[in-house]
Amino acid sequence: MIIIMKSGATEEQIGGVTEKLKKHGFGIHLSKGVERTVIGAIGDKSAIELETLAMLPGVSEIVPIRKPYKLVSREFKQEDSVVKLNDKVSVGAKLPICVMAGPCSVESREQMIEIARAVKSSGANALRGGAFKPRTSPYSFQGLGEEGLKILAEARKETGLPVVTEVVDPRDVPLIVKYADVLQIGARNMQNFVLLREVGKTGKPVLLKRGPASTVEELLMSAEYILSEGNRNVMLCERGIRTIENYTRNTLDLSAVPVIKKLSHLPVVVDPSHGTGRWDLVTSMALAAVAAGCDGLIIEVHSHPDEALSDGPQSLKPDTFAELMSKLKLVAQAVSR
Ligand code: PEP
Ligand code: MN
Repeated sequence: MIIIMKSGATEEQIGGVTEKLKKHGFGIHLSKGVERTVIGAIGDKSAIELETLAMLPGVSEIVPIRKPYKLVSREFKQEDSVVKLNDKVSVGAKLPICVMAGPCSVESREQMIEIARAVKSSGANALRGGAFKPRTSPYSFQGLGEEGLKILAEARKETGLPVVTEVVDPRDVPLIVKYADVLQIGARNMQNFVLLREVGKTGKPVLLKRGPASTVEELLMSAEYILSEGNRNVMLCERGIRTIENYTRNTLDLSAVPVIKKLSHLPVVVDPSHGTGRWDLVTSMALAAVAAGCDGLIIEVHSHPDEALSDGPQSLKPDTFAELMSKLKLVAQAVSR
């Protein structure tokens, strides 16, 4: 449930309510808006008399949250959340669209630095690159591991752009936290609850990708795991789902963008690369995603897609990415971003 405090409620009154809730075993999540403070209380409602709670000084209203996800819901927090990737780049609310770009996998220092420079010069706001790769086949390239993370850190130093990279194993979280600005949870791991809890404990920004066969509600429940550990810096990513269509690798569910925006305050990022699996569809879907109201895009770029160790067919060459970025400006402008 959420306890909405009267506007002008004092710190003492807020403290009085939270103390009482804690005493009855509730987990507390404070949200201090400009107008009023909202106290999110997660726990067993039957443990407390709601009438006596409502009588405490400063309390305006008690509202039950009917949805199974609580902290991620719009009911809990009405204002859009903003996730800060570094001192210069933030995602969400009415901020400019954040474009994260780079190769699927970090393959070598030269490859990564070359692509990082190219996407930076086209106006990308963050770098992507996988060092630990979740591959369908155990015989496919699995990523460079820590060496890849070091290369990413060098690419960040070179460009000043924050780095997004995937964590596939809960045991790797402390290592990846040392190098990355954003922890990506891949689609295949969306319901790896141990991993979700681990990244939830870090406080680092998280890019949580929707599972290929997961509903929006399941995505929101996974985000709830991260927030319930105290980490509110979560971005939700639509990256395509499995349908009967097989012309594309996945079906990019763009309706998920306004749906998630309605249900949650968290920023939404769209991945048209995995969403389609085809480089020639990436630009159209990126533009459509911005028109649909997303806050960010994550796009695979490779200087030599035909030689890429993973996801070459869906990777844009740097010049096509530059064209995408200039087309994007117009659509972004049209939706006031
Ligand atoms: C990736 O970003 O390279 C990736 C593996 O994405 P997904 O988890 O969406 O398949
Ligand atoms: Mn990929």
